[in-house]
Amino acid sequence: MSSGCHTPDQPASKSEAEKVLESKIAQYAPFAVGLDLGQMPHNERNALAYMIDAARLMDTIFLEQAWSGNPALLLRLAADKSPLAQTELHYFLINKGPFDRLDHMRGFANIAQNWVAPVLPSGPDPEAMKKMTPDEIERVVEARTAQVPRSSFYPADSTKDEVDKWISGLSGDAHAQATSFFTVIRRGPKRDFITVPYSLEYQDVLLAAASLLRRAAGETAQPSLKKYLELRADALLSNDYYASDVAWMELDSSIEPTIGPYETYEDSWFGYKAAFEAFITVRDDDETKKLAAFSSELQGLEDALPIDPKYRNPKLGALAPIRVVNVVFNAGDGNRGVQTAAFNLPNDDRVIREKGSKRVMLKNMQDAKFEKVLVPISKIALAASDQSKVSFDAFFTHILMHELMHGLGPHTVTTSEVVSIGNQRNDLRGPLTVRQALKDTYSAIEEAKADISGLWALRQLADQKKIPAAVAQSMYTTFLASAFRSIRFGIGEAHGKGIALQLNYLLDHGAVVVNSDGTFAVVDAKIAEAVASLTREIMTLQVEGNYAKAQDMLRTLGVVRPEVQRVLDKLKGVPIDIEPQFVTAETLMPR
Ligand code: ZN
Repeated sequence: MSSGCHTPDQPASKSEAEKVLESKIAQYAPFAVGLDLGQMPHNERNALAYMIDAARLMDTIFLEQAWSGNPALLLRLAADKSPLAQTELHYFLINKGPFDRLDHMRGFANIAQNWVAPVLPSGPDPEAMKKMTPDEIERVVEARTAQVPRSSFYPADSTKDEVDKWISGLSGDAHAQATSFFTVIRRGPKRDFITVPYSLEYQDVLLAAASLLRRAAGETAQPSLKKYLELRADALLSNDYYASDVAWMELDSSIEPTIGPYETYEDSWFGYKAAFEAFITVRDDDETKKLAAFSSELQGLEDALPIDPKYRNPKLGALAPIRVVNVVFNAGDGNRGVQTAAFNLPNDDRVIREKGSKRVMLKNMQDAKFEKVLVPISKIALAASDQSKVSFDAFFTHILMHELMHGLGPHTVTTSEVVSIGNQRNDLRGPLTVRQALKDTYSAIEEAKADISGLWALRQLADQKKIPAAVAQSMYTTFLASAFRSIRFGIGEAHGKGIALQLNYLLDHGAVVVNSDGTFAVVDAKIAEAVASLTREIMTLQVEGNYAKAQDMLRTLGVVRPEVQRVLDKLKGVPIDIEPQFVTAETLMPR
């Protein structure tokens, strides 16, 4: 080993590396996922236990999908009992790999130099690496991981351009197979590319998972659940997920599992390939009743929207189904980095066309985020006297109403403003949708609409004594605290930008004020009116398809102002998210 450079095995640097890792781990507050399953019949508990066993296998496949070096690295970290390796293992398990999901997927700590760099194809040779500083190694790793695929959906020695060129040259079924959710791309005998179905690529693990799902199906007495489990077991082996996706849409049971290949975020090249995940959950009966009650109020709310009456919809269509559940166990793509709080599935266009999609809200995950992140934020962002006005009930009821309000208000453009967007209209059959008219501004505007009109709707229901007064009294302050949580994730994405827009609008209308100590407060006398007027402004620009106004609103209001930034600066020590520990799942065993 050459002298004069930093060596990773100096004791001082080790403890420094450990400290850095520990501060990264502290970004995730531990949370025990415990549920009372006392009322659940014995056979259903057994079914649940088999589903959890099947879900654990999704971790195995996902690790391999996320990075081909993961299985070997996991074994090495688990075998190394040094404090540093154990800390690395902890953060590895949170991220499901050696790439930091809260830091632009950078390889973290010693892992990059010790494990990632040496196994990268055409990486620096080990002798050359010994002469490099950690920073130099990190740069080499970054340069290499930018060229070769991080996930294992594509051959480790392929480049994005090469694969892209090959796919563009395909047609018909070959093209469909190459871009399918459920295939990987591999090298053939002549170094050409071939597609391999998941059912073959992950055959051993999928056989075991299918067998566990069939055992679960054998235990449950709930017909729709039995059907989903049997069809999903078939799908894992046949690679045809359509029938089981349809069965998932029709689930009506106390246990609500979601297991298989679903989201495509992990395919950072093309977004074609689905990552394996599992959400094994149980239905929340109280919230399900609340949702049903809200659903019967929706036409009344639409009829009272604070917009020109001619823009109201006299007959709302059927709503997409929403389920409120509590997680027992998450795995794979469903348990990495920041935890999922809600999801919309399936992604298969054919199922969506024929059956629509279903929104699943994970209530205990939202509760954990509320307790571990939002409450600490509120202690910094709000005055002490307002703490009592921050409640989980208000937080979650508003999230439910947010989801429902996506279905209300204008969805098509109905005024002469369409002229202003020119010939785009000529290409379309039927009326121009708000989404088409607002283009890149649509998501942020639509998220802001759902938030602000959700507050407006809850106020209406409170006035009619249809929700508890306590919810209406705490919802504005709770919303204000949660605004800081969302903006903290960045205004680069739609939710954060939409929240910034609302917060600044409320500030400009005197409905939210900044106290002399920098904390924020709701002005009770002005908030309801400002909420109604912002609802009107957003829905009106939507019905007018007014792209210029949407752009203008986001440019002037979708920003982080200095008084907001000062609060964000004080939030450095507050966790970003949670690290679930599945304590109930650990106690469940099929008997
Ligand atoms: Zn939304």
